[in-house]
Amino acid sequence: MAIVEPLESASGARRRYQLRSPATLEPVGEFEAKTAADVQAALELARKVQPDWAALPIDERGRVLQRAVRVLLQRQDEFVAVLRRETGKPEAEALAVEVLAACDALTFYAKRAKRILADRTIPVHLMKSKKLRISYRPLGVVGIITPWNFPFLLSLNPTAQALMAGNAVLLKPSEVTPYSGQLVEELLRAAGLPEGVFQCLLGDGETGRALVEAGCDKISFTGSVATGRRVAEACGRRLVPCTLELGGKDPMLVCEDADLERAAAGAVYGAFANSGQVCVSTERVYVVDRVADEFVRKVVEKTGELRQGAEGESDVGPMIQAAQLEIVERHVADAVARGARVLAGGRRNPDAKGLFFEPTVLVDVDHEMAVMREETFGPVLPIMRVRDEEEGLRLANDTRYGLNANVWTRDKRKGVELAKQIQSGSVVVNDCMLTYGITESPFGGRKESGIGQVNGEIGLRSYCYAQSIAVDRFGAKSEFLWFPYTARKTRLLRRLMRLLWGSPLGRLLS
Ligand code: NAD
Repeated sequence: MAIVEPLESASGARRRYQLRSPATLEPVGEFEAKTAADVQAALELARKVQPDWAALPIDERGRVLQRAVRVLLQRQDEFVAVLRRETGKPEAEALAVEVLAACDALTFYAKRAKRILADRTIPVHLMKSKKLRISYRPLGVVGIITPWNFPFLLSLNPTAQALMAGNAVLLKPSEVTPYSGQLVEELLRAAGLPEGVFQCLLGDGETGRALVEAGCDKISFTGSVATGRRVAEACGRRLVPCTLELGGKDPMLVCEDADLERAAAGAVYGAFANSGQVCVSTERVYVVDRVADEFVRKVVEKTGELRQGAEGESDVGPMIQAAQLEIVERHVADAVARGARVLAGGRRNPDAKGLFFEPTVLVDVDHEMAVMREETFGPVLPIMRVRDEEEGLRLANDTRYGLNANVWTRDKRKGVELAKQIQSGSVVVNDCMLTYGITESPFGGRKESGIGQVNGEIGLRSYCYAQSIAVDRFGAKSEFLWFPYTARKTRLLRRLMRLLWGSPLGRLLS
């Protein structure tokens, strides 16, 4: 069973796919994958229209994004319906993490890009006769490739940043959730974005590959480590810059002095929100031995209260992709075979028709198990007892991933100190996930979790090149360092170096 299934097409014809809802397994649409020729045509159009878009005052570009917010508010039910049809997410989840977060991202960059991308004058420490200006110039055309777990937000958010920076954008959303990605095009068109500045290219991995090979000026990729590696290799060959936002295996560290009630509720939310299909979901817990029994009891109790299903109010939706469900089943089976105990869930939900896996709590796990080493990306919470925080930290860092992490302690200062010792792009103290949602926060992974950062000032500027413009201030007829090179000039240079870096006064001044 697959939720996106290839359809027969005459040889030489375009690849076609059928989609089925992961919640009900009912067919929800068909689409045709764009070819390499389609991608080239889109790139040509984007190249043609991008200079005019970049030439608009930044306030004008911001107004388009702000109009998009109004459209999104008006048409939120329609957008949520498309999202739910393709992903089966509970309504509140689709609204909060896709639509609300999209409104925030659009407004944030529309309002702040002018300040963040304004030319900066930097005082020059040595060459006082020069003025230095940094100007944030658009890159040109940015290719954005996105996954299926937050198909609208993860497509819209980098798009908003790239557009505000003056780029044109070609988006290739996941083949599992194409119409949720296409909502971005509908939204921006309704907001009055000029034709061609944003184009959505529905398609599969082949379409993504064609986009990477097409000759964009940057690739902004979000997805798995395996695909990210292929994208990086192709970008490396072409010397195209890329950011890679990849998978994670985020640890949770519960200290002896944690508020266990809050930590247990946070563990359940962090592991089971979006059915665990969040790059920053809590994928493994290390709890200090002295509080482990109580913590586990509370986690199991709260997990038992979760509601799952396609109908009515529910907390935990389905797995969005059939292949991912198989990974979840493999991880749980491997853990159990190696001695883990299942305290909740542990199987597909027998009462549901779609791809529902029950929220699962495992104990007696260790680092020999796949569930503690590989990304599960599903509703599974393995909990491991540790002697003390030090052991927890060591195990938290014993991974090839480094996306996010969370630490729980009543001592916030200690929380921050522990956070600094975790090798991940971001850490949350006494809460979880969060950092993608705090728009100011740069977001990215260490180790195999990625390269580069999106969001916040750093992320927005990464859709530009920082052009350095040095201006001579005084217009002298010649400069000391210019020709001719004389013996006298060489002697003076030596004296200057001694003065600047070889004397106490010079060291003080430089
Ligand atoms: P995936 O890597 O299978 O696919 C991602 C996108 O890449 C899709 O659009 C796909 O069509 C495209 N693609 C496939 N092959 C390609 C190729 N050769 N060249 C270019 N594009 C290609 O990932 P997925 O299964 O859609 O998403 C789940 C993964 O994404 C998980 O590992 C998750 O952790 C990660 N993720 C990371 C973040 C983050 O911000 N770090 C956010 C969400 C999801």
